[in-house]
Amino acid sequence: MKNSLKQSPNQFGYFGKYGGQIIPPTLIPIFDDIAKAYKIAQADPDFQTEYQNLLKNYVGRPSPLYYAKNLSEKLGEAKIYLKREDLNHTGAHKINHTLGEALLAKRMGKTKLLAETGAGQHGVALATATALVGIECEIHMGEIDVLKQHPNVIRMQLLGAKVVTVKSGGRSLKDAVDSAFDAFVKDPKNIFFGIGSIVGPHPFPMMVRDFQSIIGKEAKVQILEQEGRLPDYLIACVGGGSNAIGLFHEFLDDESVKMIGVEPSGRSFNHGDNAATLTLGKPGNIHGMFTYLLQDDNGEPLPVHSIASGLDYPGVGPIHSDLKDSGRVTYESINDVEALDAFQTLTKLEGIIPALESSHALAHAFKIAPSMSSDKIIIINLSGRGDKDIDYVAEKLGYK
Ligand SMILES: *Cc1c(COP(=O)(O)O)cnc(C)c1O
Repeated sequence: MKNSLKQSPNQFGYFGKYGGQIIPPTLIPIFDDIAKAYKIAQADPDFQTEYQNLLKNYVGRPSPLYYAKNLSEKLGEAKIYLKREDLNHTGAHKINHTLGEALLAKRMGKTKLLAETGAGQHGVALATATALVGIECEIHMGEIDVLKQHPNVIRMQLLGAKVVTVKSGGRSLKDAVDSAFDAFVKDPKNIFFGIGSIVGPHPFPMMVRDFQSIIGKEAKVQILEQEGRLPDYLIACVGGGSNAIGLFHEFLDDESVKMIGVEPSGRSFNHGDNAATLTLGKPGNIHGMFTYLLQDDNGEPLPVHSIASGLDYPGVGPIHSDLKDSGRVTYESINDVEALDAFQTLTKLEGIIPALESSHALAHAFKIAPSMSSDKIIIINLSGRGDKDIDYVAEKLGYK
């Protein structure tokens, strides 16, 4: 029998060559404690029942698998399905893992969840979960982002989170990461670092993957119900990679199912103009893990750009690095203009406004679907809704 690709990392947290715990030695026991507590929680029916119950009655799962007929007919003959993570409470997939993290933090007796946020999507999802579970929340955010994303700052505050404005350096996401990490290191026993994707030191890539894998588990049941067979393609956008692995994981051992992760090529393939980590990067260290990284000659992360702030990350989850090397998943890129086009196309044809992040997955499907025959089935992960993006899009398109 062949080994399953739905692997657990080794005891040091490596998926193949990638992952690990590349952190100061004093912090290793802290993350090992989380790994231990998670393993026990995972096997505990009470924890699972509580989590599954919240997914159903609070998040609104299962999210629909919707056959996009108008879109399919416009593009050609293949059948296109959308996994509607945009319909989750708070409008994206992130709530799937922030709830899991908040429940685990509470169970471990931690007093606070702490995290950074860029545009505020992760901060809002975490503040929502902590409000529900009943645990303190502190979110670090660069001053520039605080000004740009003011509604999300208000949301977090209404939800009871403390928002720390970071005024150092470039006053954006990178500085917020540093600031949040500094605050965490001051009291790592009591603070749970609420990582926002399948990135960071072990056990976070594995744990966040497990929480997100509900997406693919549902999609498999739903496509078998609606079509009586497995899909030919799964397509998802990749920032850190949590929504993509969430859809892919359950299908990894199904050889007939092709999988494509879509990264942002932004303005161009030049340094600083994109976040196409798996296309242009090389393995290196970032945020406690070894993984593909957009880096300069000294191994320092390069600045990144994407029209979708959720994809704007120079690294990527170590599981994707391993899946790229093994060839099981292919990684493609879509630029800002193509994503903006796809955003408009889906909105007009289906009455669904997608997140700019998800629009990258859509745009790639729009490229490859027209040459497919009528027996092909594609599932696209609609990772979030685009309400958060409409002001930006309106400005780009010159709407008054
Ligand atoms: C945060 C976000 C992403 C990117 O994160 P992944 O970990 O790569 O999934 C994608 N889509 C939406 C809607 C997001 O909010």
